[in-house]
Amino acid sequence: MANLSVAKFGGTSVANYAAMTACAKIVIADPNTRVVVLSASAGVTNLLVALANGCEATQRAKLLAEVRQIQENILNELKDAGTVRLEIEELLTNIEYLAEAASLATSSALTDELISHGEMMSTKIFVQVLRELNAQATWVDVRTVVATNSNFGKAAPDDEQTQKNSDNVLKPLIDRGELVITQGFIGRDPNGKTTTLGRGGSDYSAALIAEVLNAKDVLIWTDVAGIYSTDPRIVPNAQRIDTMSFAEAAEMATFGAKVLHPATLLPAVRSNIPVYVGSSKAPEQGGTWVTRDPQPRPTFRAIALRRDQTLLTLSSLNMLHAQGFLANVFNILAKHKISVDTITTSEVSVALTLDKTGSASSGAELLSSDLLNELSEVCTVKVDTGLALVALIGNDLHLSAGIAKRIFGTIEEYNIRMISYGASTNNICTLVHSAHADDVVRALHKELFE
Ligand code: ADP
Ligand code: ASP
Ligand code: MG
Repeated sequence: MANLSVAKFGGTSVANYAAMTACAKIVIADPNTRVVVLSASAGVTNLLVALANGCEATQRAKLLAEVRQIQENILNELKDAGTVRLEIEELLTNIEYLAEAASLATSSALTDELISHGEMMSTKIFVQVLRELNAQATWVDVRTVVATNSNFGKAAPDDEQTQKNSDNVLKPLIDRGELVITQGFIGRDPNGKTTTLGRGGSDYSAALIAEVLNAKDVLIWTDVAGIYSTDPRIVPNAQRIDTMSFAEAAEMATFGAKVLHPATLLPAVRSNIPVYVGSSKAPEQGGTWVTRDPQPRPTFRAIALRRDQTLLTLSSLNMLHAQGFLANVFNILAKHKISVDTITTSEVSVALTLDKTGSASSGAELLSSDLLNELSEVCTVKVDTGLALVALIGNDLHLSAGIAKRIFGTIEEYNIRMISYGASTNNICTLVHSAHADDVVRALHKELFE
């Protein structure tokens, strides 16, 4: 649809009544925004995940009360909460039952069903917020649109089925000029069970929906006025990047710039849909446009930081002049659905970090004891934690002489555990101790961007 925009508002943007009202005003002011995708109110998904992981009665009651309080605070500010209060009450009762079930036995399907309630509640309330500003909106259960496989916690969309569903469910509504409010993060598997796309997945949902509706753009409204040269929480004077390429944004997202979920760019790139990132609290500040081929493309673009990294060092004397060791190791990792992130090898060992991007909704650990046991059968396994990956993202890094000297000269006082560079000319990654991560980012930002 030629003029259609899909807008997505994240957790802090729908955290309370004032924030929701600001979002509603943004939607009302833009006649092209006909589909709105929402996250759960800030904090709710974390509480629901804790409930889904199973806890005893007192803790359960405490967490439930916190979830309820977040919703109550918004409901209490509505002029007429009547019907929506009943709907939220019903959802809270569901949560209570599901949490009790999870305290007996957890399951990934149960987790997804439970945590989907956060988005259900925020969208129900948002429709009423709009109504009180004299805007009519239609609530749509996104599970009737976004079809996925059954990989609970990090489900993959079924693009063909989602397209069909969208043609049947969304398109007629939009053709009639209705404003659609729906949920990010969740979908439905072929058996009708609720799935989730992984933490932070609402950005991805918005891009998927934009794609099936052939929208002109995706507007990601969040708590920062665009994508910055690094996380402004770490470097307050980081600079906003006005335009950047899909490839640059994808690198940033993959390497931890939480502002976009890493998968968001897949549909956008595939269908060449520009993505805008702006602040729902201060839309007048402008934001970042991510497009296919903006110019210029500076050598240094941004610094991303991914905390909580695990380094796995696998050694085997059999690797010396032998074939098949790496294949063996990677087969085992693949069997456990682990994707490897950065990697270096030496004569008898291989060191790798594990890819946690868009981590599973349940927050489950990647390294299971089954995996470690299996690896131990073919090599010695060493696990290092407490690390952080700092990625410098840029363009044609291989064409500029002296880059390595500048980077490593700047951070010479810090211990570097691993360096990964070469496979891509768009990034240089260094693994450092968690305690030094912010300082390393600050030092590099100061040297390369300020
Ligand atoms: P939402 O709830 O709207 O999805 P997120 O918390 O997922 O928002 O993402 C926004 C946050 O991303 C910002 O508050 C900021 O701290 C963080 N962030 C990390 N890297 C960057 C960056 N390079 N530019 C802007 N924000 C960033
Ligand atoms: N509510 C989900 C989360 O907290 C999805 C999202 O916010 O994008 O991960
Ligand atoms: Mg997010």
